[in-house]
Amino acid sequence: MKYISTRGEAPTLSFEEVLLAGLASDGGLYLPVELPAFSEAQLTAMRSMSYPELAFEIMLPFVEESIPAQDFRAIVDDCYSVFRHDAVAPMVQLAPNQWVLELFHGPTLAFKDFALQLLGRLLDYVLERQHRKVVIMGATSGDTGSAAIEGCRRCSNIDIYILHPHQRVSEVQRRQMTTVPGERIHNIALQGNFDDCQAAVKASFGDQGFLPEGRSLVAVNSINWARIMAQIVYYVYAALALGGPQRPVSFSVPTGNFGDIFAGYLARNMGLPVEQLVIATNRNDVLHRLLTTGAYARAELHQTLSPSMDITVSSNFERLMFDLYDRDATAVADLMRHFNDGDIQLSEPAMQRLGSLFSSQCVSDEETTAVIGEVYRRNEYLLDPHSAIGFKAARDCRRDSDVPMVTLATAHPAKFPAAVASAGVGIEPALPAHMADLFEREERFDVLPKDLAGLQSFMAEHLSA
Ligand SMILES: *Cc1c(COP(=O)(O)O)cnc(C)c1O
Repeated sequence: MKYISTRGEAPTLSFEEVLLAGLASDGGLYLPVELPAFSEAQLTAMRSMSYPELAFEIMLPFVEESIPAQDFRAIVDDCYSVFRHDAVAPMVQLAPNQWVLELFHGPTLAFKDFALQLLGRLLDYVLERQHRKVVIMGATSGDTGSAAIEGCRRCSNIDIYILHPHQRVSEVQRRQMTTVPGERIHNIALQGNFDDCQAAVKASFGDQGFLPEGRSLVAVNSINWARIMAQIVYYVYAALALGGPQRPVSFSVPTGNFGDIFAGYLARNMGLPVEQLVIATNRNDVLHRLLTTGAYARAELHQTLSPSMDITVSSNFERLMFDLYDRDATAVADLMRHFNDGDIQLSEPAMQRLGSLFSSQCVSDEETTAVIGEVYRRNEYLLDPHSAIGFKAARDCRRDSDVPMVTLATAHPAKFPAAVASAGVGIEPALPAHMADLFEREERFDVLPKDLAGLQSFMAEHLSA
């Protein structure tokens, strides 16, 4: 499989290259030249597979020119063995034809483990083979940092630097990052906000001269294709469990950067009968406004009870835009150039395509806590604030009540105790046993001022040999 950029000017890459690439050199995002397709008979045969077996089958076509099948098999088996539920991604029914897909049984209790556990192992495999070392640099306002650290903690060829805004992430989230032991793991609390962290990361990717000869930066945010690829699997897994491929299924996805729901879109294009995809957002509703008005327009950032969806732009939307414009890279490059300077308007045909599969809803903090309370009282089931937004949108947006609707539960409620407390259900979600002592573990992080040169010399000084 070869990979091309949404903006058409960057070189075509192999899987191995795309894994290490980050943004394309033309500013675009990488996508496979064409998607593998699975027939109804092939999908039916996958019904009896375990999660790792299915993951291997679905992802092999994307990687097989770079990684031999038996090696990939071992990587995938090892990756999903660390999840703490036998089903890896179990489903729970909350109402007639309303299901929740629990994606929080990985090491850091959010769905990002599905992709980042795999990404860490893939990177280590490729780097080992190339006798090469890289540096991961990322900014986090929440779940990405801890999932990336957990995914890469055992990689001997990776130094990892994760920036978080000092005193502006929740204590659970901070401790999940800062209590992981390892000499190659560096948590930096930057004296600034999340945008300052992101700006420092972006500037460092743009000019990597501060790193010694032979080292380069690797991105672990959802612009990395391997993350999207890993997320396709659980859509197939859920649909097959609910009668697919003979029966269509719909999904509602708590959405920030559009990486997770985009994987659902790809699953559909690979042959899975997906009826509807619901984009569920919090007050940061750039995509909901796009679906309702046709305008893609930045707005001010609001802090909400669902911080992992607090974004102003959904970077992966560009990948969908590429298809909405018939894979016309010049049109995408034009649109994104204009978007740099201000708002853009999608064409009528693009909007029609978008609306035929996707719906959207924006859910306020008040509605979020109301849903958490209501579901707890009715089902004795505790949703985290992100999943609650997904569940509300699933109910309000579904077009056909005969089609099973699956809400992706993207985080464990214990990750967001304050939001759950404000729902007034009178219980506090407990951390799972393997994390019960999180508040006693020793933390390690460095507080640094908002100064790019200082940050970069800190990084260079602390690199492993
Ligand atoms: C990252 C995250 C999201 C948003 O996912 P995107 O792929 O950015 O759309 C939703 N919920 C939780 C809990 C997350 O950590």
